[in-house]
Amino acid sequence: MVTVTAQRAAAGSSGSALPLAVAFANTLVAVRGKVRETLGTPDELAAWLAANTGAPEVAVGAPDLTAFRALRDAVRAVLRAYVDGEPAPAAEVERINEASAAAPRWPVLTPAGAGYAVTQRTDRDPLPAALAALAHGTADLLGGPLAADLRACHGPGCVQFFVKDHPRREWCGPGCGNRARAARHYHRQREQSA
Ligand SMILES: [Zn+2]
Repeated sequence: MVTVTAQRAAAGSSGSALPLAVAFANTLVAVRGKVRETLGTPDELAAWLAANTGAPEVAVGAPDLTAFRALRDAVRAVLRAYVDGEPAPAAEVERINEASAAAPRWPVLTPAGAGYAVTQRTDRDPLPAALAALAHGTADLLGGPLAADLRACHGPGCVQFFVKDHPRREWCGPGCGNRARAARHYHRQREQSA
């Protein structure tokens, strides 16, 4: 059976499109300073995959959840080391490369308007194909032109990554920007009153 996995970009918290690998890394979020797992159940993973990878919604089991979260954590560790200028973590890179080999895929061109649409085709089942697509997305990101603009958000307690799409962008989204501005304002007020 040939299935098609389109590599779709998810909308980030700022509303702009995020590379698939960053959207995947950002499935760990911070809510009021506490880290929260958004891939908490097999159903949550199935819904995330359907929304972000274009994979058809399929039955996801507990072992799949473990495999996708392990890949997500490896992606996070590699992105974190990269943005911090630290050496690449070997075991995590290996895990991404293993996932990458879970399903070969090839681009298929379809004429669309003045140009072409490209979809990725694979002959594997949807779950290994999605796991591989996430690993391929990570390779595309770190080996491509967006890598230089990859950042970790320094918002208070924030655990999100983003791609700096304009020179003054400092935060993953408006929420972190507003919190940081409020914190600066608070410190200024305290300094003035001291
Ligand atoms: Zn943030």
